[in-house]
Amino acid sequence: MAGTGKAHLRNSADTVLRVEDLVVEYASAGGEKVQAVSGVSIDIIAGETVSVVGESGCGKSTLAKGILQLINTKSGSVVINGQDITKLKGDELREARPNMQMIFQDSISSLDPHMKVSALVEQPLKVWNRGTEAERKAKVDDLLRSVGLDPEIVSDRKPTEFSGGQCQRISIARALALEPKLLVCDEPVSSLDVSIQAQILNILQDMKQRYGLSLLFISHDLSVVRTISDRIVVMYLGRVVESGPAHSIGRNPQHPYTQVLLSAVPTVNPSAKRDRILLSGDVPSPIHPPSGWPFHPRCPVAESRCRTERPEFRTVSHGHEAACHRVPA
Ligand code: ADP
Ligand code: MG
Repeated sequence: MAGTGKAHLRNSADTVLRVEDLVVEYASAGGEKVQAVSGVSIDIIAGETVSVVGESGCGKSTLAKGILQLINTKSGSVVINGQDITKLKGDELREARPNMQMIFQDSISSLDPHMKVSALVEQPLKVWNRGTEAERKAKVDDLLRSVGLDPEIVSDRKPTEFSGGQCQRISIARALALEPKLLVCDEPVSSLDVSIQAQILNILQDMKQRYGLSLLFISHDLSVVRTISDRIVVMYLGRVVESGPAHSIGRNPQHPYTQVLLSAVPTVNPSAKRDRILLSGDVPSPIHPPSGWPFHPRCPVAESRCRTERPEFRTVSHGHEAACHRVPA
């Protein structure tokens, strides 16, 4: 349905993830409830990379953790492989976990510094009682090789002996040990040098092919996600403001916020030079969001109704929708 923010959800038999109207609240220091994610809907079809972009603080990590049920969600559903995991508890939720794994921005600190690389990658297999010791060792070696690390060289070392990029490779190998269907990557290259970023993005692409993975990729940087995504979801202050096929968002962005993010993306073609649109101010706090449409105080083309009226989602083209009063109904 147009207007609900769910028109882009598809009814494919190959849907790996379908998130509808997900809401996540935190308790603020003053005890008030703060919605960090407000009614987000996204889906991923097998083999796709779907990216979520937006400035720091807009709720991307909260969305990722909410999807994986690493934090409590207030309402909404998260269907993975046909099962709404928000309804699962205890052992049932545990059983669903191998299907969905996550890697983080800060790979160095997300790996136990006291464990050897081989033990880190083997750990999920041990915890889930997969294979014999010899089978696990073969699997660990295979995983390490697939992320471009030589098991002979790295197995007995500790994460602290490696660079950020190498630690991210180790994290990827570890996350893939249980052959998940869905890998959630939360800013996996944001703390790496640009040349290393490309290597990690390439590894993720290879892993998609090799292990039949689907990716939910999170970044504050639209230039990173543009090249690797099938679909892009743009978030502002806990809400989706625009979503659609990556090429459609890239060529025909409709929301002023998406246009701002795109204007910051460097282009390789000098004749296609764009004027950079600058946003004033920071992302407002979700504790006391601005009235009406929360983006209006920073929007370069805000109209008076934006101060009082929240815009409905409007369909831009097939599978592409944006929440802005200026998009024709
Ligand atoms: P992003 O990943 O896009 O930078 P986050 O999901 O980390 O954004 O944060 C979204 C909002 O939720 C921010 O306003 C942040 O301050 C708030 N927030 C994040 N984690 C917590 C927490 N554990 N308790 C309270 N507020 C939080
Ligand atoms: Mg984050």
